[in-house]
Amino acid sequence: MSAIDTVMQDLVIANRILAREEVADAYGHVSVRHPDNPKHFFISRSLAPELIERDDIVELDLEGNPVREEKRALYLERFIHAGIFQQRPDVMAVVHAHAEDILPFGIAKATKLRPVIHSGSFIGSSVPVWDIADKFGDTNVLVTNMPQARDLAKCLGRNNVALMRGHGFAAAARSLIEVVRMSVYLPRNARAQMRAKQLGGRIKYLSQGEIDARNRGYSPYSTETWRAWEYWATKAGCSHMLSRPPPPMGTSAAAAAAPNHSSRSSAALRSSSLSGSGSSPASSAAPPSTRRTMLVPIAIAPSPPRNPVWVKDPGISRNCYPPIG
Ligand code: MN
Repeated sequence: MSAIDTVMQDLVIANRILAREEVADAYGHVSVRHPDNPKHFFISRSLAPELIERDDIVELDLEGNPVREEKRALYLERFIHAGIFQQRPDVMAVVHAHAEDILPFGIAKATKLRPVIHSGSFIGSSVPVWDIADKFGDTNVLVTNMPQARDLAKCLGRNNVALMRGHGFAAAARSLIEVVRMSVYLPRNARAQMRAKQLGGRIKYLSQGEIDARNRGYSPYSTETWRAWEYWATKAGCSHMLSRPPPPMGTSAAAAAAPNHSSRSSAALRSSSLSGSGSSPASSAAPPSTRRTMLVPIAIAPSPPRNPVWVKDPGISRNCYPPIG
């Protein structure tokens, strides 16, 4: 499998995770910058994240236009991704979704969304709120063109997350794994903050020092990061899609070369290729984890029909994934 193929595979996994973790439902999307061409990015055609397969991924330019002839409908709000990739060369992956728990913080001016739990630290100390009405007046509240997207990206600035008033959020990160992780923990942080507020009294937020310390200790290539990606992918029924590249040449991890001791995630490796350090092809031979597989795909029909068919893993009969469609 080529590096591009693996990036697209990871994008499918990212979509399925966001659906399974209820960050996205029928709506919401995730994109990843082209590892060899920073002026392009990959995103699905207009489709619910849970249903996305490899063939649904399209390549767009930084104006949100498809780079090849495309007759299928595209996301109306693909410009969000184009705008952020345009403005932030450091960003490799973007999520836009409407997770319910974050919505109050985009509506109520009295309380800012801030990190209150350790796993929420990655949203950063400042989460700006973008109000489309400020500049564009009465709209349908969707980001449907580049001027709106650039205005949102300007509000995001150097932050990791921007809330969109009455709508949702946009998150930006250095890799798919990171943006998925942030998008999963963002609503959890919002929920914890909301509940703490209901208890009354003063809210104790993470301090800037704590946020900084967690950022210093965080590596997109760590075993801990892979642990979350592998877990979420497996929970979402995608363990058979997981691929893990070999560790960088010349490292002690490379010498060990044991599958469960490799310290670089596939998405993280590919995210680094923008800076020229991630040119190693991903290994397609990396064994997917089956230890915790809850689902077994027995057939993935070519489209149409497009829905995978799932059966319970006889070894783990509980936690059966609900049927798709
Ligand atoms: Mn939206």
